[in-house]
Amino acid sequence: MLDFIYQAFQARIVFGPGKVSELPSEIQKLDASAVLVISTGSQRGVADAAIAALGSSFAARIDGAVMHVPRENVVSAVDLVRQNSCDCVVAIGGGSAIGIAKGIALETGLPIVAVPSTYAGSEMTDIWGISEGEGKVTGRDAVVVPKTVIYDPDLTRGLPGKLAGPSAINAMAHSVEALYAQNRNPVLSMIAEEGIRSLASGLPAVCDGSADNDQRGAALYGAFMCGLALATATMGIHHKLCHVIGGTFQLPHAETHTIILPHATHYNRDAAPEAMAAISRALNADSAAGGIFDLARKVGAPTALKDLGLAEENLDRAAEIATGSPYYNPRPVNRDGVRALLDDAYHGRRPA
Ligand code: NAD
Repeated sequence: MLDFIYQAFQARIVFGPGKVSELPSEIQKLDASAVLVISTGSQRGVADAAIAALGSSFAARIDGAVMHVPRENVVSAVDLVRQNSCDCVVAIGGGSAIGIAKGIALETGLPIVAVPSTYAGSEMTDIWGISEGEGKVTGRDAVVVPKTVIYDPDLTRGLPGKLAGPSAINAMAHSVEALYAQNRNPVLSMIAEEGIRSLASGLPAVCDGSADNDQRGAALYGAFMCGLALATATMGIHHKLCHVIGGTFQLPHAETHTIILPHATHYNRDAAPEAMAAISRALNADSAAGGIFDLARKVGAPTALKDLGLAEENLDRAAEIATGSPYYNPRPVNRDGVRALLDDAYHGRRPA
């Protein structure tokens, strides 16, 4: 019997090669006339062109958004917004540029236009995060959801394989967990499965540099679907583990997700058979966990925690912290199970 709640956010999605050129008309649709443009270092050239195209609607810019959205960067960005009477924020780049825009929106309520250049998926969610000292404050607020998202696959041309692979598998993790989430529903499952399928179909060619427009578009379309999955699904053991070991031992975000995902999937294999079937179908693989692991290997992404510099003696502590407070997961989370999962992830063993 169908019985569910599916909550969606309203956003206008403009998708296609070259669509970044439609930024000025999209800004007009929002009735904005004083735009702050934020970009990551790699997207400076795209931001330069966007600023030229915006003409008199351009008001100010921030170059080189950095990781983890430091509080002081948000404070100085909000000052800049006020000094220039900005009425809209354009973020061109990955999760870091979009993260600063979200920090501004949280403080000022300004609309965001996001132009993502990675597969992270932040542009589709109401999740914000701001780092302060050692810690990070996170929350959810509809005000940070971009009003318009321009997905232009051409922007991912500069993304090297070693960034694209982990970025995509990190995105895929949102769909994997959406498929066995406590609040899973048929709409979310359809989005999540399509996200995995589309990302996996385009990713190998993106990573080896041979991607044509269709493959590049498929990868970004998959990332869009995975972002949609993250927007509404509750997350389970995979995200809990990545949060704990990434935060405690300062491991790189996307690479940590890439390594843990096959093992977290394997952990849930018997408790979430429908999710496993959907993931296997999407990857055209015999097993969900094996399929994810093989994809990571195929695109040259890391598959062993030991290669990220994590010391093996930290695994006991990681297992303790990750099982310290209860949360929903299809298979109950226990210390021994998590410790075994971490051992496999540490050594980079293919899930059997
Ligand atoms: P990022 O924005 O820091 O980008 C990673 C690196 O890739 C940067 O050095 C950037 O300059 C470079 N880069 C970006 N696009 C490029 C391109 N097209 N070509 C070449 N280089 C490019 O990080 P990210 O991986 O996009 O996102 C990860 C961050 O986003 C994490 O901090 C994570 O917590 C956050 N995130 C937030 C949400 C959310 O919903 N709030 C969702 C996913 C991720």
